[in-house]
Formats: sequence, structure tokens, C-alpha cells
Amino acid sequence: MAIKLPTPGAVLRQVVDGARAIARDLTPATEAERERRIAICMQCPLVIRDERPRCGVCQCPIERKAAFLSQACPDNPPRW
Ligand code: SF4
Repeated sequence: MAIKLPTPGAVLRQVVDGARAIARDLTPATEAERERRIAICMQCPLVIRDERPRCGVCQCPIERKAAFLSQACPDNPPRW
């Protein structure tokens, strides 16, 4: 049974889609949006207030989570 390989065009599309997804994930939030998110998190009953505050749902550091546009609050419903 022959294995069907993807066409060069399909491979190129996957590479381009992957690069776009990485660029989207690394797009920084504006300073105002980052501050808005952090302010909400610091009022959230789920935040873990240790040396580096973390989200109590996903365990991500709040500073890092708030910094990227692609991130979202994991609570249901989301708080930001
Ligand atoms: S990301 Fe959402 S659930 Fe997590 S601490 Fe912030 S507001 Fe709370």
C-alpha cells in the first residue's frame, strides 16, 4: 500500500499557517490592555498571590499572561 505524501503546495501552506499562528500568539497586547488585564486579575478571587502572582486556573504568571494579545482568561465566563 502506497503512502500518499502531501503536495509541496500543501506543505508550504502548513508552514505559512504555522508561522502566522506563531506571530499571532506572540503579538503583544497594548500597554493599556495589559494594565487592564492585570488590574482585573489582581481583583480576581482565583489569583494566587505569591512572589509572582499566578492565575489559579491555568497557573500562568499574570504578567506573562496579560502581555500577549492571544491570551485569554480561562475562567468561565472569562473575566477579560
Ligand atoms: S486570568 Fe482570569 S481566572 Fe486567572 S487570575 Fe486572571 S482573572 Fe482570574
